[in-house]
Amino acid sequence: MKIIVVGCTHAGTFAVKQILKEHPDYDLTVYEKNDNISFLSCGIALYLGGEVKDPKGLFYSDPKELKGLGANVQMKHEVTDVDSDKKEITVKDLDSGESKTESYDKLVMTSGSLPIVPPIEGIHNDHVRLCKNWTDAQVLFDDAKDAKHIAVIGAGYIGAELAEAYSKTGHEVTLIDGVDRVLSKYYDPKFTDIVEKDYKDHGVKFEGGQMVQKFTDNGDTVSIKTTSDEFTADLAILCIGFKPNTSLLKEQVEMLPNGAIIVDDYMHSSNQDIYAAGDSAAVHYNPTHKNAYIPLATNAVRQGILVGKNIEKDTEKYMGTQSSSGLKLYDRNLASTGLTMSAAKAQGINAHQVILEDNYRPEFMPTTTPVLMSLVYDPDTRRILGGALTSLYDISQSANVLSVAIQNENTIDDLAMVDMLFQPNFDRPFNYLNLLGQAAQEKEAQSK
Ligand SMILES: Cc1cc2nc3c(=O)[nH]c(=O)nc-3n(C[C@H](O)[C@H](O)[C@H](O)COP(=O)(O)OP(=O)(O)OC[C@H]3O[C@@H](n4cnc5c(N)ncnc54)[C@H](O)[C@@H]3O)c2cc1C
Repeated sequence: MKIIVVGCTHAGTFAVKQILKEHPDYDLTVYEKNDNISFLSCGIALYLGGEVKDPKGLFYSDPKELKGLGANVQMKHEVTDVDSDKKEITVKDLDSGESKTESYDKLVMTSGSLPIVPPIEGIHNDHVRLCKNWTDAQVLFDDAKDAKHIAVIGAGYIGAELAEAYSKTGHEVTLIDGVDRVLSKYYDPKFTDIVEKDYKDHGVKFEGGQMVQKFTDNGDTVSIKTTSDEFTADLAILCIGFKPNTSLLKEQVEMLPNGAIIVDDYMHSSNQDIYAAGDSAAVHYNPTHKNAYIPLATNAVRQGILVGKNIEKDTEKYMGTQSSSGLKLYDRNLASTGLTMSAAKAQGINAHQVILEDNYRPEFMPTTTPVLMSLVYDPDTRRILGGALTSLYDISQSANVLSVAIQNENTIDDLAMVDMLFQPNFDRPFNYLNLLGQAAQEKEAQSK
């Protein structure tokens, strides 16, 4: 069996390892256009903020490891064409400039995503940078050394983390977003109000509700004109989202309107011999049971493994995702899973929400800390659709509990009474998640 893998960051690395674990005899070639594999972009902000001192730790594999498993690893090789009728690819050696054609029995598209760069006047400018891969991380690291004022455009989780990191390294930071709240896709206003106050306390200026219209290169600085203001910065970083990098398969397999390859439960595209995983693929979003584009490493590694498990025959199904994610800004932990109330409303989904704040453990303990929680659920079926938590206490694993509850289609009644440990070091006789479920039950009882 001849396998070609296109792209080798997370989905590609996991797919290669799993394919060769299950089938060490397969003839597998992986083409990667960069000079590295397996870079954890989630470490970029930690590296720029000085928390991660040695960036080598941000790679968990290398070409040598994959070669040791039996892969033919071709670095700095870009696949430039796919002909799915002939089952052939064209690939260019980026050092020599030479191209060649290769045939395959099965093709694995793990070509990931590209940062969205909208057609804004002046955007192609040395002061306007992207934040996606190891090359970008090094450029940002160098640029920040001479920069005083940094503008971060886009207040999603990547922009939010960069704004925090640069405010901790003595930079003046302006965070700009078209929406009037930070992290608006992940958290409802009660939560984002707290984050915005944390930014203010740390000197980050949040400029929401305005769209960038123009960049002007002033030589040493860049001016950023928005729909309502103008800012000058030494460095601007564009973090406004990602699009699937799938033009090679355009009109050859089924895709979402944004180009994400639609895959079945076993990671086949609409062409049974072409698999897709990670940021190049759509995911099954369990809260709505619809296909969605949610580019996260969590999805990439799971889908990559499933490509390996299903490469010979359909064996293990994809479970879908809740799009669970978390971040730490200053001392505050934030974690969310499934739908926010704002997202449910925007999608016309009938949902109710309870918001509850409670100390995570009893007041008789030497210390305790408040946890702010949200639960979004379907009032008819009582099924849990989403949840979020924030606290100075580490609540990340509680978001994972809510993720499992959504995955398993649990109700607010399940959450209210499910067995959770009690010990005063950790929580009250009812864990704070039980209390959140009980608050939802109470709300429904009162609305009858
Ligand atoms: C700053 C940042 C922080 C993040 N933090 C988190 C986090 O905390 N948690 C989380 O879950 N996710 C996080 N993510 C998202 C996560 O990094 C992505 O979901 C993940 O990288 C997707 O992996 P992938 O392998 O599918 O695609 P990609 O990482 O996009 O990799 C695709 C690979 O394919 C190669 N390639 C593309 N086209 C070709 C071609 N034609 N020929 C050869 N090679 C090609 C590319 O060079 C690349 O190496 C973060 C992303 C960024 C940018």
